[in-house]
Amino acid sequence: MEKFQQSMYDLIVETSTKLPKDVRRAIARAKARENAGTRAAMALDTIVENIQMADENVSPICQDTGLPTFKIKVPVGVNQMEMKKAIRAAIAEATKNGKLRPNSVDSLTGKNSGDNLGEGVPVIKFEQWENDYIDVRLILKGGGCENKNIQYSLPCELEGLGRAGRDLDGIRKCILHAVYQAQGQGCSAGFIGVGIGGDRSSGYELAKEQLFRPVDDVNPIEELRQLEEYIMENANKLGIGTMGFGGESTLLGCKIGVMHRIPASFFVSVAYNCWAFRRMGVKIDPATGEIIEWLYQDGEDVDFSKELEKAEAAVALEQGNTRVIDLVPPLSEEQVRQLRVGDVVRISGVIYTGRDAIHKYLMDHDAPVDLNGQIIYHCGPVMLKDEEGRWHAKAAGPTTSIREEPYQGDIMKKFGVRAVIGKGGMGAKTLQALKEHGGVYLNAIGGAAQYYADCIKSVEGVDLLEFGIPEAMWHLRVENFTAVVTMDSHGNSLHEDVEKSSLEKLSQFKEPVFK
Ligand code: SF4
Repeated sequence: MEKFQQSMYDLIVETSTKLPKDVRRAIARAKARENAGTRAAMALDTIVENIQMADENVSPICQDTGLPTFKIKVPVGVNQMEMKKAIRAAIAEATKNGKLRPNSVDSLTGKNSGDNLGEGVPVIKFEQWENDYIDVRLILKGGGCENKNIQYSLPCELEGLGRAGRDLDGIRKCILHAVYQAQGQGCSAGFIGVGIGGDRSSGYELAKEQLFRPVDDVNPIEELRQLEEYIMENANKLGIGTMGFGGESTLLGCKIGVMHRIPASFFVSVAYNCWAFRRMGVKIDPATGEIIEWLYQDGEDVDFSKELEKAEAAVALEQGNTRVIDLVPPLSEEQVRQLRVGDVVRISGVIYTGRDAIHKYLMDHDAPVDLNGQIIYHCGPVMLKDEEGRWHAKAAGPTTSIREEPYQGDIMKKFGVRAVIGKGGMGAKTLQALKEHGGVYLNAIGGAAQYYADCIKSVEGVDLLEFGIPEAMWHLRVENFTAVVTMDSHGNSLHEDVEKSSLEKLSQFKEPVFK
């Protein structure tokens, strides 16, 4: 087993930097469905470009490399303690080499361990089996999509759909509702794993287990096969689209599993995964620890480099129909009030990262830099220091903005911030503040970590590094950083509009389908 640690390192790097073939095919199908020239098509083009860049740079597809979860099946007699030790060492090494972001945080003190290790992290689950090889599967599931998981206790009342009873039709309603409530915040278009039955914890476990099934497999249980097919056909009619911009592709895969329950409980648990569906697997020789075979690599591969040529044409088309505005911070109130929902902006200059810890800090402290007229970027990047002590951004896409909703409006007013960049949109409190103060919300493409890292020309400084790399305030000099205005200073919000229209569409599915 001496090669096992190296095999785990290879698995981690491959999972973080390359999407498996079945996921690539699902993304290619979504691209084919989306009409060229729309905002959703532009978002998908950026996603495709990002996948290609991650392949070429062997760098994380998304900066949020998530919670590493290993599912391992071993023949009798394999030393699980040694395997655990090797996996932990491989995780620490991958973090040091910038293939994983340091993501493990003490829940009480907020301190980042710096190496992705900690109490319960990574998650490693063993099971014994009769086969003579080891099967290791890994999923890197980020926070934006993990936060959109949802569990229903049947019977229940669902917005737009009415009563969901304890039957197949009630399950159908829960799954449609799960897709609706995620909107674009989990970086749609996404994949869902559904667990029917169990208790609260085993139900979620079963839901997550479904994400390890190949995207194009067929459910062996006939009722569930039909339900999966129904969901794939109809969830895409909700019009949520890529990044919640509206559009044809909202769901890329749906897998449903079932287990027994006790009579008093009936749970439907849904695990949501973003388009950056990083899960991979290997078969390992138990004698040497070497990789015998890579999993999820059957079938046709998608050559995204060809897609890129088409993408450039589509972006040109989109920009031909849209106002494209260059911004150089600091911004004035007048400049910001001229921006409207739907405008594309290209930013060049210095922007400042800030996410959960920074927002909480700024509520009661002075800012470390003058933020008047500046732009805050909701981003927790992967950063590496070179031998001369200079920092470089290795992955730097947006994080979910809604977490900052309690703080954002107050911070913008207190420090004179004119724009925030993030993903998934913000709520009514921020929209009101944008109106009163003169500010905009700019939606970048979630998960496009390589695409945006490429826009960062230098790291000019960092403050509050004691919060850990993802939470520090990085001063990033960017060039042609592109984002879409989705909330403006006139009270318009694309997110609000898409949520309203998708709720109307959801209510079309109120009538029973499965008896
Ligand atoms: S693609 Fe979006 S939801 Fe997925 S890990 Fe990245 S930021 Fe999170």
